[in-house]
Amino acid sequence: MSLNKQGRPSRPAVAQAENEGQFETFSGSKALQQTELLLFDRGDNERTGVDLPDTPEMDDDLGDLARKDAIGLPGLTEPEAMRHYVRLSQKNYAIDLGVYPLGSCTMKHNPRLNEKMARLPGFGDLHPLQPESTVQGALALMDQLSHWLTTLTGMPAVALSPKAGAHGELCGMLAIRAKLDADGQTQRRRVLVPDSAHGTNPATAVQCGFTVDEIPSDSSGRVDLEALKGKLGDDVAGIMLTNPNTCGLFERDIRTIADLIHEAGGYFYCDGANFNAIVGRVRPGDLGVDAMHINLHKTFSTPHGGGGPGAGPTVFSDALAPYAPVPYVVKDGEKWKLVERNEDAEGQPFGRMSAFHGQMGMFVRALSYMMSHGADGLKQASEDAVLNANYLLALLDGPMTRAFDGYCMHEALFNDNFLKDTGVETLDFAKAMIDEGYHPMTMYFPLVVHGALLIEPTESESKTSLDRFADTLLALAEAAKAGETERFKQAPVHAPLRRLDETQAARQPVLRWKPAEAEAQAAQ
Ligand SMILES: *Cc1c(COP(=O)(O)O)cnc(C)c1O
Repeated sequence: MSLNKQGRPSRPAVAQAENEGQFETFSGSKALQQTELLLFDRGDNERTGVDLPDTPEMDDDLGDLARKDAIGLPGLTEPEAMRHYVRLSQKNYAIDLGVYPLGSCTMKHNPRLNEKMARLPGFGDLHPLQPESTVQGALALMDQLSHWLTTLTGMPAVALSPKAGAHGELCGMLAIRAKLDADGQTQRRRVLVPDSAHGTNPATAVQCGFTVDEIPSDSSGRVDLEALKGKLGDDVAGIMLTNPNTCGLFERDIRTIADLIHEAGGYFYCDGANFNAIVGRVRPGDLGVDAMHINLHKTFSTPHGGGGPGAGPTVFSDALAPYAPVPYVVKDGEKWKLVERNEDAEGQPFGRMSAFHGQMGMFVRALSYMMSHGADGLKQASEDAVLNANYLLALLDGPMTRAFDGYCMHEALFNDNFLKDTGVETLDFAKAMIDEGYHPMTMYFPLVVHGALLIEPTESESKTSLDRFADTLLALAEAAKAGETERFKQAPVHAPLRRLDETQAARQPVLRWKPAEAEAQAAQ
């Protein structure tokens, strides 16, 4: 029996026997992993969790629109509701549970101080329609956050209202389009996008009425400068470039690229999702960027995943600032004001991104993160993120095959060469990581690398944690090469569910629960 670094058997005999014996429990639960029905299957319509007095007879104005059938919501007692969600949470992987190396997603620790701040009644209990005089502190906070964001990026203006990175891209590209239209440059409709870009970039460009022209990467994983030059012309609206890019590499020619685009009459949109690698060291404004979104939920530690709220404030250069959307915060004498309209001649906001002002709870968390780190702490966080990624790159290089030479930034990118002729594919490798108790890294992205495995450890992980993680990956790589193909093809065997048909789930999602009989009828 082999022992792992902690001196424990790496494959305890009992676990192996259980694996081979595959006995099913009578309850369907497995020790702490409880089976759990859907709420609708568990509750019934006749019950409620609280006793309420009968409602008095009332006239309503709904007329024909009044509901005639029972609403059909499941009734649950408080303990039933509690158990339901706790059981679900135990089937879920979380940053609070273990390493979450999902490249490009920046799953860093969410400091609990941020949560405490966000729950202060003066922030947590606000309503967006409250009179301005009652929300002066919140407006001051938004202004202070804006100050940090413009200072860190070296850009003069920021729109806080976009609610995610992709929404921020939309905001930036709409501002570019508004500027081009205002200048009569309506023939500029082509946007250059590198082939390593995140899918949201071309999607955003198309959404704004642009066409996408792909620029190839060179052999170092960066924008091919000669190819870029060949694509410039007076129909170019601009470029959408990520820096550090999605291969985890700094675009060294970024100043040249910015100059080329500007000389050609276009604008430089920077996808700032990877800003966490350079905060405190590089100011995008100094690189010639005209617009960039910042994922507060990546760089500044606000929680994400599972569809939780994000925030994608977008910073602007002087050229684009007048076109930035409303609302924004200004100080008027002693009072803070949200500017909702701007009809004076200079300002020509293209409109608004959302009904209100953005994700207040995320603003509070992000500012809490910034202020508790301080300027020096933010710089150290990005340096540590880069150090951690390079440490993993060095540990794994060899047994796993790195995609590009040289140091990386905040994420380490591998290709699937090390799995050649093993019968194991990137997907199988990732599934085997689930059995080992790790969330897999990002797979098959960026598209320019075959069978890509993109690992972003973030600064949150200790050396001990990185060592343990690397040991597991090295052991898996060795197992793959030793021909233990079944171990990978079967994986995950220890997860509550095995391999799911993700394509069908995406293409034909079942969004509505129906009682079992109705379901059976529909099937016939
Ligand atoms: C995460 C990410 C986005 C999109 O951000 P969302 O907040 O998920 O909308 C865009 N580009 C890159 C490179 C990213 O990593």
